[in-house]
Amino acid sequence: MQVLTTCQNCGKEFLVIKKELNRGNGRFCSRKCSAAFGNMIRNKVWKKNLLSSQGKTLEISDDFGHYISGLVDGEGSFIISFASKENQSYRTQVRFTFKLELTKADDEILKLIQNALLCGRIHYVKRKEDNAQDACRFIVQSLAELNEVVIPFFDKFKLKSSKLLDYEIFKECLALYLNSDSADIARMIYQKRTSMNNGGNKSRKKLDIGEGMSQVNVVVQGKPHIYSGHYVSGLVDGEGCFSVIISRDSNYKAGIRVKLHFTVTLAAINLKLLTTLKNYFGCGNIYYNKAEKAYVYSVQSFKDNINRIIPFFDRYPLRAKKRKDFAIYKEIANLIRVKRHLTEEGIAKIFALRAQMEERGINAY
Ligand SMILES: [Zn+2]
Repeated sequence: MQVLTTCQNCGKEFLVIKKELNRGNGRFCSRKCSAAFGNMIRNKVWKKNLLSSQGKTLEISDDFGHYISGLVDGEGSFIISFASKENQSYRTQVRFTFKLELTKADDEILKLIQNALLCGRIHYVKRKEDNAQDACRFIVQSLAELNEVVIPFFDKFKLKSSKLLDYEIFKECLALYLNSDSADIARMIYQKRTSMNNGGNKSRKKLDIGEGMSQVNVVVQGKPHIYSGHYVSGLVDGEGCFSVIISRDSNYKAGIRVKLHFTVTLAAINLKLLTTLKNYFGCGNIYYNKAEKAYVYSVQSFKDNINRIIPFFDRYPLRAKKRKDFAIYKEIANLIRVKRHLTEEGIAKIFALRAQMEERGINAY
């Protein structure tokens, strides 16, 4: 069986027999790339400045940089993988991957990121499960691109979630890989990787939260600081939700109560970041969702939604498909503000608007 893979030297996609990949072969698209890679490792010439050799310079606005960092804190991953678990002794078996995965409907934002970073590839992933949406991935696997673009980018636009820990280990392992002559390099990296929160492969996904928690407390000392509202809009594009809760309530004139609910949900490990977010907005509260093992930052007060949340996202716009949900949320908020939700005609309009939202929230009517 042939599978699509990415050349470890030039980043180009090519087909390889799966068995070969499992053996640790099939890392390069051509002999030329294999030789160039060997040469690069031997002579430590990966800093030859990839971008300027292509006549490009990385120009990314601070606003978009902070936005990307927020989005990656939600949906990105730093992965170190090995061709085989049993044999970790060969250098060529280590693969470094930076991945940002969103639903297919959000491929536009991934293309914008690819254009801004001037590297990486976009993949589409078909989901077989019934209610799973097809995904789109932005992936960087070329060592030169990782070393010259991805690492400097996240050194400048700092992550604030538990992904910061993964990033630090990823960066350390990549530097080790590029700088060490040790024949035992793969094994050394394999050991370092075990402290990553997200791990390097699927078998490590179910890592105990308690374990990760103590690691993050060590690494992320003090409170994460939010320097830019664009970081928040990136994080919310990944992990936020604007929902409109409609319930029967005889205390209201039309017999229906309409409530705005803004939430940001993060794994339990990221409670500190949520607390920072709550202080940043100066409203709302945080509760624990046991079923999802996650903390939820929640703003339900109409006043806070109108005075703080909505003006914030007018100023720091969302860029992924969640901006459509936000537009409807805002429209419904305006209807409530002028008391239209107390009339039957107003309620009908709110129902129609709400039906167009992608995510209506768990408490759907
Ligand atoms: Zn190649």
